[in-house]
Amino acid sequence: MIEILREGPFALLFWKMPKVNTLNAASIEAFREALESVLTDSSVQGIVLSSRNKEFIAGADIETLQALMAAEDAQAIFAASWAVQEVLLRVETGGKPVVAAINGSALGGGYEVALACHHRIAIADPSIEIGLPETSLGLMPGGGGTQRLPRKIGIAPALEILLEGRRLRPAQALQAGLIEATVDTPEALIESALSWLKTHPTATNPWTDPEYKIPGGGVQTPTGAQTFSVAIAKLREKTYGHYPGLEYCLRAVYEGLQVPFVTGLRIESQYFAKTLTTRTARAMVKTLFIERQRLLHLPHRPKEVPPASIQKVAVLGAGMMGRAIGYVCAAAGFPTWVKDTSENALAEAQKFAQNLTEKAVRQGRLSPADAQALRTRLHFTYAYSDLADSDLVIEAVWEDRSVKAQVYAEVAPYLSPQGIVASNTSTLPITSLAEAAGLPERFIGLHFFSPAERMPLVEVILGQGTSPQTLAWALDFVRQIGKVPIVVRDSRGFFTSRVFGTYVREGLRMLIEGIPPALIENLGRQAGMPVGPLALADEVSISLMYSILRQTEKDLGRPLDDDPVKAIGQLFVEQLGRPGRKGGGGFYEYPTDGRPKYLWPRLRELFPPKPIPAELHTQLKDRFLYVQVAEAFRTYQEGVVLHKADGDVGSILGWGFAPFTGGVFHFVEWVGEKTFQTRAQALADRYGPRFLIV
Ligand code: NAD
Repeated sequence: MIEILREGPFALLFWKMPKVNTLNAASIEAFREALESVLTDSSVQGIVLSSRNKEFIAGADIETLQALMAAEDAQAIFAASWAVQEVLLRVETGGKPVVAAINGSALGGGYEVALACHHRIAIADPSIEIGLPETSLGLMPGGGGTQRLPRKIGIAPALEILLEGRRLRPAQALQAGLIEATVDTPEALIESALSWLKTHPTATNPWTDPEYKIPGGGVQTPTGAQTFSVAIAKLREKTYGHYPGLEYCLRAVYEGLQVPFVTGLRIESQYFAKTLTTRTARAMVKTLFIERQRLLHLPHRPKEVPPASIQKVAVLGAGMMGRAIGYVCAAAGFPTWVKDTSENALAEAQKFAQNLTEKAVRQGRLSPADAQALRTRLHFTYAYSDLADSDLVIEAVWEDRSVKAQVYAEVAPYLSPQGIVASNTSTLPITSLAEAAGLPERFIGLHFFSPAERMPLVEVILGQGTSPQTLAWALDFVRQIGKVPIVVRDSRGFFTSRVFGTYVREGLRMLIEGIPPALIENLGRQAGMPVGPLALADEVSISLMYSILRQTEKDLGRPLDDDPVKAIGQLFVEQLGRPGRKGGGGFYEYPTDGRPKYLWPRLRELFPPKPIPAELHTQLKDRFLYVQVAEAFRTYQEGVVLHKADGDVGSILGWGFAPFTGGVFHFVEWVGEKTFQTRAQALADRYGPRFLIV
C-alpha cells in the first residue's frame, strides 16, 4: 500500500492503494509502519510523501465513515479519529523533515496529511483540488485540520475555508497559504521536494512550540474576538442552526486554539465524533456522497450500448441557457456550434464565454492556453450548414411548441447518422416534442439548471419512444461534461420543476392568505430553502409561470382555479404589469442604482397582512417542506422518478431543497416517519390534502 524508495539520504513514501488512496484503518496502519521504518532508520535524513495514484490522498474512506456513523458510538468514532491524529503527530514531531509532494487532489483527510508535513509543494495543474470540504457533506475535519490550518494561516482565513468547505486550485492554495510552492511538471515535483529537504535538515512545525503566536492574533485578542463574533453571526444567518457539523467545527477552532496544540487535537476529535453521530451528517453523507457517487456510475444506463461517440455538439438558441450549455460543452472538450437567429444573442453569448474563461484564468482554474483552446472549440453561427454531422443537438430556443417544432425540422438534415436530439425544455412533455420532431427514438430531454455553467445536475427525461442508445448517449454525455444525471420519465414539469413549483405556490398561497411577505421569505429560508419563494417566483418570472399555467389549462381542457398562480398571474401580469425580475419588477423592486432589491411596498395594500403569532411559524415552515415532500412521493408513485435516492440527489443539486435533510424523499426518515405523519396530517386538516402522502 505504501511504496518506500531511497534517494541518497532521503526516503520517498508513495501511497498506492489499489483504486483510490483513502484513509481507513488498514491504510493508516500501513502508513504508520512505513513511517516508523524510515523514522527509525538512522541513515534517513528526510522524507518525501507522495502518491503513485492520480490523486494525492482522497481523504476518509466512505465505508469506514458509514460504519462509524451506523454504530452511533461516539467513543469508537473518537478512537478512529485519534488513531489518525497520532500518526500525523508522528509525521510532524518524528524528528525528520517531511515534504508533501502533492501530485493530485488533496482533499479532506488527504490535505490534513499534507498539513502535518513541514512543507507542501503541488503541481500547478488547475484540475488539482486542495482543501477541507468536509463541512459541505455535513461533517468536519477530524485529522487536525481545524487545529493546524488556523495556526498556519490565521483564524479568519482558516474559518472561511473550513466553514465554506472550500476546494482550491494549486494557484489559489498557494496564494491562501495552504501550500508553500508549486512546480510545473510531475518530474519537477520530487526534484524540488528533495532539494527542499537538503536545505532544511531540521524542520519543525512552529505551532508545536508552546510559545507560538497565531498569525493575526489568537482567540483572546481583539481581532480574535471580533472574528468569532462575526463568524457566529454569519453562520446563523446562513444556516439557521441546521448544520451541527459547522457549529462543532467552529467550536473546535475556538476551544482548540486556546489550549496546547495536542489538547486542541483531542478537542477536534471529540467534536468530530459528535458530528458523525448526528442525523444530519448521516443524511448528507448518504445523499451527497454515496448516492451522488452511485449516479455518477450511471446505474440507469443500458449496459448493452457501446460508449457514446460524440464528436460534435450543436446548441440551438444562444439565450440564457443555450450560451451556458454551449460553454459547458466546449469546456468539456467537445467542438461546439451555438446557433441563434439573433445577432445580438450570438454576440452576447460570445462575450459570455470570453468573460467566463478570463475569470477562470484569473482564479487559476484554467491555464491561459486551455482557455484559448476552449474558445477555439466554441463557434457561434446563424447557418445550419455549420451544424452538419452533429452527433448531439441540444435545443434551447424559446419555450414555444411551434418554434421548437420548426427548429427540429430545420436541423434534422444536419444530424449525423447516429445523432440524437435533446430538448432543454423545462415544462413541455418530451414525448410530444419528440413527435413534433419526427424522431421519437432519437429524442430525449436534457434539462439543465440555471446558471448551467455552475449547476451540477442534469435531469434526463425519457420520452415514450426514446431508444436505449439515445439514453446511453445522453448519460455518457452528461458524465463527460462533469455533471450528475438523474433519469426520470416524462410528465408535466418532470420531477424537478414539478416538485420545486409546489414551494413557490405555497409562498403565493401564504401571500393570498395575508401572511406578511417578509415573514414568508424569512420562513422559507429558515425552513432550509436557499431563497424565499417570492424572490424565486420573480427569478423564474411570474409571467412564465402564468403562461405555463394557461398552456396547461389548454392541454387539460379544464380551468385550474385552485392554482394560486392563476390569481397571482392575473393580478401581476395582466393588471399590474409586474412580470418578475427580468421584466423590471414583481414581488420585489430592483433598483438600478446598485441598491439591493426590496419587497414592493404596495404588497401590503394588495394583501393586507394579518398578525401571525410566533407559535404558527413552525407550521408555516413545515408547509414549505412538507408540500414538496408529498409532491415528490406522488411523482414516485406515478413512476416519474425511478429511484427515491435519485430524487434526493436531484432535489438538493437541482433546487437546493434543505440539504441537511438528505433530500426530498429522505426527509421522511430524517424527521422520523411517525412525526412526519402527525405533522403532515395537522397541515392537511388545516390547509388541505396536498401535504399527505397517500
Ligand atoms: P432565452 O429567451 O434567454 O433564449 C432563447 C433563445 O432562443 C433566444 O436567444 C432566441 O433568439 C433564440 N431563438 C428563438 N428562435 C430561434 C430559432 N428559430 N433558432 C435559433 N434560435 C432561436 O430563453 P432561455 O431562458 O435560455 O430558455 C431556453 C429554453 O431553456 C426554454 O425551453 C426554457 O424552458 C428552458 N430552460 C430555461 C431555464 C431558465 O432558468 N431560464 C432553465 C431550464 C430550462
